Amino acid sequence: DARVQLKNVSKSYDGTTFAVKNASVTIEPGEFFVLVGPSGCGKSTLLRMMAGLEKITAGRLEIGDELANDMPPNKRQLSMVFQNYALYPHLTVEENILFGLKVRKVSKSERNRRCLEAVEMLGMTEYLKRKPRELSGGQRQRVALARAVVSHMPICLMDEPLSNLDAKLRGQMRAEIRQLQQELGITMIYVTHDQVEAMTMGDRIMVLKEGEVQQIGRPMDIYNDP
Ligand code: ADP
Ligand code: ADP
Repeated sequence: DARVQLKNVSKSYDGTTFAVKNASVTIEPGEFFVLVGPSGCGKSTLLRMMAGLEKITAGRLEIGDELANDMPPNKRQLSMVFQNYALYPHLTVEENILFGLKVRKVSKSERNRRCLEAVEMLGMTEYLKRKPRELSGGQRQRVALARAVVSHMPICLMDEPLSNLDAKLRGQMRAEIRQLQQELGITMIYVTHDQVEAMTMGDRIMVLKEGEVQQIGRPMDIYNDP
């Protein structure tokens, strides 16, 4: 299922200092869970270990009921949205959205069905034949979200997905991402350095400082006990 568990997870890149130290938490299915803290506190490292993009130095990562420490990224039941969107510039919006499904040998009719569903949810139906350079920042962001939606994975990881957008659009996209997560019923693990974003989006928030977990709680609990 869509539960993610960390048990004393640590990461050292250099063998002496820790980018993440003894992080433990159980993230429940359907939860919107936010990792927050200043630049360099270890948020991306923690997320990348969940995704299998970074090796875990010590501790246990479980996805569902499985030990996932050494599970290859493509075997993990999760999708990931990056800060810079990671779109292929030479592919159209449609091709970008469907690339991952093609690789996973999902049938053409199923691919088209999922693509239509995703672009309708995100209001991107008119832009399927465009290239990323012909889109606004917010539209590129929606293509990256559509790619996560069509994967039909029960868990989604997002690493500062809104940091390249202006303040107004950021507010709008926060609401859209929150709504998308609830409609799909997926588990969201969301990284941001923005405290307002954490407070307005998260069911629960993990506050990191210099690689260590400072607090885990609901926004109100953290607001009352900063
Ligand atoms: P955040 O996402 O909160 O900004 P990071 O996880 O990127 O924090 O970084 C945590 C710490 O680990 C920082 O001190 C950073 O310099 C270090 N770090 C991150 N990635 C690497 C890497 N690939 N090699 C060495 N050190 C890294
Ligand atoms: P963020 O704070 O959003 O994680 P960074 O600029 O810290 O962004 O990191 C961008 C990339 O550089 C990441 O892939 C990260 O792993 C890598 N990185 C960060 N710090 C270091 C470091 N000290 N040495 C090597 N790579 C690093």
